Amino acid sequence: MQQPAQNFVYFLYVRKSTDVEDKQVLSIEAQIVELKEFARRLELQVADIFIEKQTAKKPGRPVFNEMLHRISAGEANGVIAWLPDRLSRNSIDSGQIIYMLDENVLGDLKFPHFWFENTPQGKYMLANEFNSSKQYVDNLSVNTKRGLRQKVREGHYPSIVPFGYLNDVRTKTVVANRKTAPIVRQCFEMYAKGNKTCGDIADFLFASGVATKGRRKTKNDPKSAGGKRWHETRVKNMLSNIFYYGHFLYAGEVYEGKHTPIVDKALFDRVQAVLTGRGRVQKKVTTPQALTMLVRCANCNCYVTGSHKVKRQKNGNVHEYTYYRCTHKSKVVACSEPELREYALASQLVPIAKSFAISERMGAFMLTKLDEDTQVVQADSTKLITTHRARLDELAGKSKRLFDVYMDGDIEQDEYRERRAEIMSEKKSLESKVERIAARADFWIEPVAKKQKSRCKQRPISHFPPRKHLVRAARDQRKNRPKGRQFPEKSLYGADERT
Ligand SMILES: [Zn+2]
Repeated sequence: MQQPAQNFVYFLYVRKSTDVEDKQVLSIEAQIVELKEFARRLELQVADIFIEKQTAKKPGRPVFNEMLHRISAGEANGVIAWLPDRLSRNSIDSGQIIYMLDENVLGDLKFPHFWFENTPQGKYMLANEFNSSKQYVDNLSVNTKRGLRQKVREGHYPSIVPFGYLNDVRTKTVVANRKTAPIVRQCFEMYAKGNKTCGDIADFLFASGVATKGRRKTKNDPKSAGGKRWHETRVKNMLSNIFYYGHFLYAGEVYEGKHTPIVDKALFDRVQAVLTGRGRVQKKVTTPQALTMLVRCANCNCYVTGSHKVKRQKNGNVHEYTYYRCTHKSKVVACSEPELREYALASQLVPIAKSFAISERMGAFMLTKLDEDTQVVQADSTKLITTHRARLDELAGKSKRLFDVYMDGDIEQDEYRERRAEIMSEKKSLESKVERIAARADFWIEPVAKKQKSRCKQRPISHFPPRKHLVRAARDQRKNRPKGRQFPEKSLYGADERT
C-alpha cells in the first residue's frame, strides 16, 4: 500500500494560527516533533521545513506559496503535514494542490492520520477532506456570528461592560457593580446641574478612588502603572454612554439591554443637554429658600431673605448652611439685625404654627377637595399614560417600517442607524415616563391627607380658641418681646451656632 518512498523528496509543512479554528490543533513545536518522527519511521527524505503561523481560511499564505513555488521549481515533489486541513481550508489552495497532483508536479502527500494515495480515488478522498475543513471554518464563523447576534437580540451586551457594571462570569450576564454604580450615578447627578465640568467630575472620581488601570507592557507601548486621574474625554464618553440607561450600541445599532439601568432616561437627557450646550460653565442658578418672603424683620419690617452656602474645606469635607437675614432695605430704620441659621428661625416659627388648627368643617372641606384633586390627578395620569402608550405603539410601527425601508435598500445604513437610535431614545424616555407616572400618580396627596386628618383629630373645634383670643394672644406676645428683636437672643442658641 505504501508507495516506494525513495522516489520522493518531501517538504515538511507545519501550520497553526491563533484563530479560533486552530484552537484544538497541536502546537507548531509538537507538529514538527511528530512529523519528524513520522518521516524517520517511514524513511522519508525531508528537504526542508516550512513553518506558518497564519490562518488557511483565505488564500495568500506567504510560506505556503513559497513552498508550492519551490515544488514547481522541482526542489521537492512531496509534502508531509499533520492533516489535510494544515495545507488548506479554502477552495483556491485546495484546488491548486489537487491540480498539482493531477499534473504530477506533486507526486505524494503524507499525513500521520490520513491515508492518501495519488490515485483518482485518493484525490477524491483528499478533495472531500479539504471540503470538510473549509466547511468547518465556514460553520464556525456563521455560528460565532449567529451566537453573538442572538445574544444581542436577547438584550445581552456581548462585550466588556463599561465602568459601573460587572460581567458576571457564572450567569454570563451583566450586573451593576455595587461599589461603583452609585459613583456613576453621582457623576450624572453632579453634571446635570450644569455648573460642573468634565474635569470636575474626573476630580470627583479620583477623590472617590476611581483611577486609570495599568496596562501591560507591549512592543510599542511602555508599561503604564495606571493610578492616574481619568482624562476629561473618558468622563465625557462615560456621560454620553447610553448603556447607563439600559440600551447599548452594537455594530452601530442601538439595542435594548437586559441589564439594570444606573441612571434614568430623564437624568441622562439632562446631562446630554448640558454636554451639547457646553462651551463654558453655566451661571449658577439660585434656588429660592423656603421661608423667603414669608417672614418680616421685627426691627424694620423688611422681608427676610434666605441664602444657601456651601463651604468646602481643604481636607475634602463639605458643609452646607442656609442663612436668613433682613434685607435691610428700609430707608427709615437703620437696621443691623444679624443673619441667623435656618434651624434657628424655624424653631421660632414652629411654636407659632403649632398654635393654629383647622376647624373640623374646614378640615372636612379640604379633605373633599383633596379627594377631588386625587381623582383629577389620577384621571390626568391615566390620560397621560394612554397618550404615551399610543405614541409607543406608533414608534413600534415606525421602527418596523424603518427596518422594511432599510431592507428594501431605500435608505443607507448610516441613515438607518441614526433614525433607529432616535426612535429607541424616544421609546426609552416614554417608557420611563410611564413607569414614573404609574408609580407616583398620587404621591403628594397621600402625606398631605394624612397630616390633615391627624390635625383635625389633634384639636377638635371645641378646644380651638375664639378668634379674638388669638389676636389678643398675638398682641401680648408682641408686647412682651424684647424691643427691636424678632431674632432670639444670642444666649438662646449659643454664640457658636450663630454667625
Ligand atoms: Zn431689619
